Amino acid sequence: MTPRPLPVLAVTSEIFPLVKTGGLADVAGALPGALANEGVAVTTLVPGYPAVLAVLGKARPVLDITDLFGGPARLLRGKASGLDLLALDAPHLYARDGNPYLGPDGRDWPDNARRFAALSAMAAAIGRGAVKGYRPRLVHAHDWQAGLTAAYLYHGGPNPPPSVFTVHNLAFQGQFPASLLPILGLPASGFRFDGFEHHGAIGYLKAGLQLASHVTTVSPTYANEIRTEAGGMGFDGLLRYRGASLSGILNGIDIAIWNPETDPLIAAPFSADNLKGRAACRAAIQQRFGLAPDRKALLFGVVSRLSWQKDLDLLADALDDLLALGAQLVLLGAGEPALEQRFRQAADLHPGRIGVRVGYDEALAHQIQAGVDALIVPSRFEPCGLTQLCALRYGTVPVVSRVGGLADTVEDGITGVVFDALTADGLRGALRRTADLFATPRRFAALGRAGMGRDVSWHGPARQYADLYRALVVAH
Ligand code: ADP
Repeated sequence: MTPRPLPVLAVTSEIFPLVKTGGLADVAGALPGALANEGVAVTTLVPGYPAVLAVLGKARPVLDITDLFGGPARLLRGKASGLDLLALDAPHLYARDGNPYLGPDGRDWPDNARRFAALSAMAAAIGRGAVKGYRPRLVHAHDWQAGLTAAYLYHGGPNPPPSVFTVHNLAFQGQFPASLLPILGLPASGFRFDGFEHHGAIGYLKAGLQLASHVTTVSPTYANEIRTEAGGMGFDGLLRYRGASLSGILNGIDIAIWNPETDPLIAAPFSADNLKGRAACRAAIQQRFGLAPDRKALLFGVVSRLSWQKDLDLLADALDDLLALGAQLVLLGAGEPALEQRFRQAADLHPGRIGVRVGYDEALAHQIQAGVDALIVPSRFEPCGLTQLCALRYGTVPVVSRVGGLADTVEDGITGVVFDALTADGLRGALRRTADLFATPRRFAALGRAGMGRDVSWHGPARQYADLYRALVVAH
């Protein structure tokens, strides 16, 4: 007899394919399916944004709340895209289209403190059995938006279920004024350095890091980096103190969605055994970006948020060298206006050699992964990184800085090119090395094939999460 699946409540502010701004959504969307194979039944609590209610609006209400931080709310339970969801339908908090965190002026919604405290408070309530007939054995919260879950669990009465808090990026910390404490229903007694206080403010990320039963982050190297002063962003002391209660579990990618043999978004299918379709994908990308249809030119690609973290300034500084190598570049990204502008100008200056699309485009991301020869990821820090995993899966050679999850997933000279000096010169050297490898097509193809042979699925990571959940439930 197979044992009954372990019921786990996940809490996240974004989930693929319903709402996505970055890697968190990918993880939240893919992990439940992978965990099902490990005997874990995940139900995910998400805010009832319009995109969520569009698919779940007719789902069964399982709880009514008369007042959740300023308005009525209810919980809807249903399925969408193979995910078991609990949607927190609270129009005063979530009935807003577009980016889940930012208003139309591009700034954080002024009530984000309430919006995500509400999500966390609800997660804790569900964890304690607020929904009839559903009692998770563990609550798994993701990132600062769900960080207060651990605080609400901790302060909500004796014997809360164990919790896991996963930090996908320590740079996003969610700090809000202490004056909100009574509104958020958090006790003043918890406002202390070993509680949810952080430098005089309510720290949402801090609450998760401090109060969750176990903290994970998304790669073993990042788990070590954030214990150091250089990488800890003010939390290194706390993270060192957490000792073995902090661990790194690599992300995977959904290999059904990212599958070059069946991907409907790319120009032609291909596989490690039959790479012929890749040429069509490459030609399609060159055409799409108005590049010269040159088969000999090394075609680099970038798919990224344009933010300080990703350090694409390094690439902008090295563009002349990239061109001097006879290479081409396509870039898909959005973020800092100055950087958008810089790459747009480069494309205007070098038509036929550099192509740039500013924006977010899921289909184009697939097409770039399938069509370019090498993907550049020069991040300053990278908790895990997903684009290099997609690149490996599509036989594209990742060119990455040796940080965080990039260091854990790309092997220099075997599946990709890894550089140490995080400077424009370091990147220049890596681009040159990539060009040298590319000059010997058999060697370069061997790198791509080796990458395609790596397991970038959720299989291994899901097993590690399942083992962790079970250990925590047993210890509870
Ligand atoms: P982060 O979460 O820091 O942005 P990751 O590499 O972990 O970086 O995840 C980024 C995810 O978002 C990947 O799935 C990547 O393909 C996707 N992505 C990033 N920028 C864009 C874009 N401009 N258009 C489409 N997809 C993008």
